[in-house]
Amino acid sequence: MCNGITRRVLCSDGRLAPPHLLRASHRHNPISEALRSRGFLARSMALLARTVRSLARPARSRLLRSARPQRAHAPSTLPRTLSTAAVALDDEAEWAAAFVDATSVFSGEDTHEASAQRMRALVKSGLLRHTDLRDRPDRFFEAHRLLARRAVSEGPGFWVRFTVHYNLCYGTVLAVGNTDQIAALDAVEARGRLGCFALTERRAGVQSGLVVETTATYDAATQEFVLNSPSQGAYKNWISQGHVADDAVVLASLTVGAERVGPHAFLVDMASAGISTGDMGVKTTGNDLDNAWIGFDGVRVPRSALLDAHCTVSADGAYARTTKLAPFEMIGQRLYTGRVAVAQAALAFRRQVYEVTEAYAREKPIPDVAGRSRVLADIPQLKALFKDAAERADALETFVGTCEDRLAPLLKTGAVPDADLALAIATAKVRAVEDSIDACWKLKQEVGSYALMGDSGFKHLDFLNCCKFAEGDSRVLAQKMARDTLRVFAKSGDAGGAASTRLAGELAKALKSAAGDKVATADLWDANFGTVYALADAVMDRVVAEA
Ligand SMILES: Cc1cc2nc3c(=O)[nH]c(=O)nc-3n(C[C@H](O)[C@H](O)[C@H](O)COP(=O)(O)OP(=O)(O)OC[C@H]3O[C@@H](n4cnc5c(N)ncnc54)[C@H](O)[C@@H]3O)c2cc1C
Repeated sequence: MCNGITRRVLCSDGRLAPPHLLRASHRHNPISEALRSRGFLARSMALLARTVRSLARPARSRLLRSARPQRAHAPSTLPRTLSTAAVALDDEAEWAAAFVDATSVFSGEDTHEASAQRMRALVKSGLLRHTDLRDRPDRFFEAHRLLARRAVSEGPGFWVRFTVHYNLCYGTVLAVGNTDQIAALDAVEARGRLGCFALTERRAGVQSGLVVETTATYDAATQEFVLNSPSQGAYKNWISQGHVADDAVVLASLTVGAERVGPHAFLVDMASAGISTGDMGVKTTGNDLDNAWIGFDGVRVPRSALLDAHCTVSADGAYARTTKLAPFEMIGQRLYTGRVAVAQAALAFRRQVYEVTEAYAREKPIPDVAGRSRVLADIPQLKALFKDAAERADALETFVGTCEDRLAPLLKTGAVPDADLALAIATAKVRAVEDSIDACWKLKQEVGSYALMGDSGFKHLDFLNCCKFAEGDSRVLAQKMARDTLRVFAKSGDAGGAASTRLAGELAKALKSAAGDKVATADLWDANFGTVYALADAVMDRVVAEA
């Protein structure tokens, strides 16, 4: 018997699912290739996966450490023999099979509590460690891709819960926490604690990060920070896992003495007095995930709550930067990993929607006036769409893959991407998400009543909407690209390519009459929004073409 995602990937009796349904992602897919070509591996993986699932039960989670597949060693500079490469491949295939099996139990119908318990069990299993974001980014991204495929049948809830926990919450601890705070991630894993990431404020929306009204004021008398929401507009909202989380990384504007030093991250115990939460309400999909608003009313947290790898606040209240990086810049690191993960998730989701739909279309007979034996997949417009969408997905997966490859070494060293890579990642995120929305919408128009079936996958297309505004809204990223390009054009008269230079010239001309006045410039910018987005598009075309 097969069930859940295992039905589509690996049956519990060790049989592999049909190859066209097996693919976890088209890029970085040595795992799937290995799965396809090795029957013995499938059987041993199934055995391992069953072992892991039984060990992953909370009561026995401690045993898992020894049962967990050994990690592959960091890539060596020495030439690797074929056999060591095969061992590494087996290792990763086993890990992926174990991860798929350990996450095969969650359902989009789960209650918040049940879903949270599944997440706790996954955390305790140690299959993905909180430090893997730094040490094994390949696994971090692969886990996201595997879960995104599951979103087609179960909705986006668990995927969002997962990424918020691993990337945004404890990933931020990894990026801006000190040595002790990072070491404490072991205890988070052992106890199966859950984390949320409280950045978005009601009034800030997609401009969160630029606008942070939640305050943190240092009280030297008690050596505590005091967190406050100055108004309801400053309440954090839409915070995923916000109801069930034990910890929250809270972004708040810090004041130390008379000095206001800007947004900083604090690791806050959600049981602290003065925290109030409420539910955001019923969503179109992903209702297994709790989304909360959070208010802070004189919440006192210890001095050690500040994630202070890049700054210090002394006991008597002196603030200092300890590295050249502003603490908020390192938080931005999580947005880069998040953008790559979101881009890949959108593509993995779209692949799964297409594969499931194509499987249906190949089975669905249709009458033919010429008496040919035909199925829905033979209809020319659908055939063309399958081909076109697959080619577009291939190209995007390759492009996003180059971004992952460029980012991964920086995650290991803690370096921040340069402007070039930051632009490539933003492009990857916008293009992967927008193209997936377009491709899935087009598919939905071509498959008749099937598009309305609850288990067709189209029910959860709003997963892609979540991808659209998560970790940088498409429009906001496009606006930034246009602004940055115009700045370069103003200095050099060149915007990097023929189309972008022409559009930057048009925009500069349109803004000229504002003569530098801030409000008039903003008005003209808005009036020329079409050119603004066309410029961003031209920039993205160039970035993709040059990759
Ligand atoms: C399921 C879910 C989970 C979430 N999880 C978290 C979480 O864990 N932590 C967290 O901090 N937040 C989280 N969020 C918040 C999420 O990031 C915000 O909801 C998102 O940023 C959208 O905010 P908003 O609805 O207020 O959009 P608005 O700010 O109202 O924007 C709406 C639209 O207007 C356009 N727009 C707005 N401003 C501009 C501009 N300046 N230029 C051009 N276009 C613009 C964009 O197209 C945008 O999509 C989550 C949201 C959802 C739905």
